[in-house]
Amino acid sequence: MGRTVELAAPVAPAPPSVRVLTKHGDTRLPPATMPDYDAACATYSWTDAMQGELDGLPNGSGLNMAYEAADRHAAGARAGHVALRCLRRDGTREDVTYAQLAARASRFANVLGELGVQRGDRVYALADRVPELYVAALGTLKFGAVFCPLFSAFGPDPIRARLDIGHGSVLVTTPALYRRKVAAMRDALPALRHVLLIAPAGAPDARIPNALNLSECLERAGDQFAIPPTDPEQPALLHFTSGTTGVPKGALHVHQAVIAHHMTGKLALDFHRDDVFWCTADPGWVTGTSYGIIAPLTNGITSVVDEGDFDPERWYQVLQNERVTVWYTAPTAIRMLMKAGAELAHRFDLSRLRFIASVGEPLNPEAVLWGVEAFGQPIHDNWWQTETGGIMIANFRSMDVRVGSMGRPLPGIEAAIVNHADIGVEVIDEPGVQGELALRPGWPSMFRDYVGAEARYRGCFVDGWYLTGDLARRDADGYYWFVGRSDDVIKSSGHLIGPFEVESALLEHPAVAEAAVIGKPDPVAGEIVKAFVALRDGHTATDDLRLDILGFARTRLGAAVAPKELAFLDELPRTRSGKLMRRLLRAREQGLPEGDLSTLEAGAR
Ligand code: ATP
Ligand code: MG
Repeated sequence: MGRTVELAAPVAPAPPSVRVLTKHGDTRLPPATMPDYDAACATYSWTDAMQGELDGLPNGSGLNMAYEAADRHAAGARAGHVALRCLRRDGTREDVTYAQLAARASRFANVLGELGVQRGDRVYALADRVPELYVAALGTLKFGAVFCPLFSAFGPDPIRARLDIGHGSVLVTTPALYRRKVAAMRDALPALRHVLLIAPAGAPDARIPNALNLSECLERAGDQFAIPPTDPEQPALLHFTSGTTGVPKGALHVHQAVIAHHMTGKLALDFHRDDVFWCTADPGWVTGTSYGIIAPLTNGITSVVDEGDFDPERWYQVLQNERVTVWYTAPTAIRMLMKAGAELAHRFDLSRLRFIASVGEPLNPEAVLWGVEAFGQPIHDNWWQTETGGIMIANFRSMDVRVGSMGRPLPGIEAAIVNHADIGVEVIDEPGVQGELALRPGWPSMFRDYVGAEARYRGCFVDGWYLTGDLARRDADGYYWFVGRSDDVIKSSGHLIGPFEVESALLEHPAVAEAAVIGKPDPVAGEIVKAFVALRDGHTATDDLRLDILGFARTRLGAAVAPKELAFLDELPRTRSGKLMRRLLRAREQGLPEGDLSTLEAGAR
């Protein structure tokens, strides 16, 4: 990877303002799945977790994600329990039980067999959150092919690039998406042998040359499928990273990742048997697969699958009407809900909601505290990456929440803050010092390759550590605090400045809705901190306001860290999953090429 992280002098006393929220200890709620974090860590083993929690394929023939997610429940007392509660855009809903899900996935696996698909082939999906997507995912995993979900909002170029990188041989999509985004380039994708269209049987608009109607195929196929022996190391999922810092990478995961999906769902999201869980992420992103598909299913709970787009009022309706108990969302969604105001949340009966978690970007202290105002409980931040396959660091239900911290490593995960210089990796034991966040390889959901970029994959592992590319600090009690991505860190007058702290301070200004900071080249300081700010409704971008915000930041952060320049933008450039693309702000500031924009949210172009 060629990254080095300089020995870091923390510029502000670390960690940033620690405000502790007391644990969520309501005795009317079920006890936490992990009541004692330290005790759990002391005795944890992945092998014990596997043996105690998962079944493995019958006759000891391996470990298959789909079997753990659907078939084992379908064969037992959970058969009639609702696995997926699908809310359609048109307002209708469909409940799919574990028995139905297992049978439909078997039909899908049989369809793949009839088409001559081979185990290990890549099956891509390009669709909204509709039941067929989930059936295709589980059917592909049963069959032993590799499932690769794409975000349906991608344009033709990103779709083609990802199909190319993974040599996709099957594509599951809708007639409309196929016509708009794939048809014109079909000849340029020789590896793509089969297109399966999600449409009712007999639908005239699904009559497209070289494509099959998926419903008709499923109807013809048998609903029994014997899962072949599955080596736990057999590839299962291909996920592309968000492209926040560069060209998206295709991270490959294997079937035994299911142990981590299951255990992190249970321990970090506190899944209980009667939970109704809503993960708002699209399966096009890793969160939408690990926690939108696999983890809730292996835990045998009911998952809400919402086809619709974000809308504050509708989201609260979903939480209320579906009686959601555990909700997993992202800072970008929370920020938008904050914009709509806590009063809106108070209009709904959210009394069932007992645990809220967030991932994908730093959760600013403002947002954690807003959760208390809006929902009577903090939002629990957790940290992981496409590459890690599952949650690695989390604020657990039974622990105090330190506002602004990502929490502590999962049992079974060894994390460290390291310096990564030419001489190798050096672990920093001293609390409060910033460095690169590293993980000890060996957890089940660790990625096994960057498809087509093996050297880059190998470069992530140095001296027995996986280097995450994120900078963080650990406090004396073992809580981790996010500083920034190493690519985004600003080097100003000998200081390393993490964007997160500066952006969090800016967000405390009443006029600021969104903030991003970058390093702007400067002949004297090396770089100076430049801020980009989007204002809340009702505020106007004036020079006076600019000076006021800069002064506010200086008081909070000190002159060495506070932004020196500030520009107003209507909207900050974000990926479709809501991540700030600081690299784009840097490129635009310096008049450099903008790089890969395949994941950029359309409005920010
Ligand atoms: P790319 O690797 O293509 O640049 P990406 O890193 O954004 O994109 P993902 O794997 O989707 O792709 O995102 C993981 C990254 O998101 C983490 O490495 C981290 O930078 C950020 N992230 C995730 N969760 C958190 C969190 N709780 N706090 C801070 N940052 C987070
Ligand atoms: Mg990344």
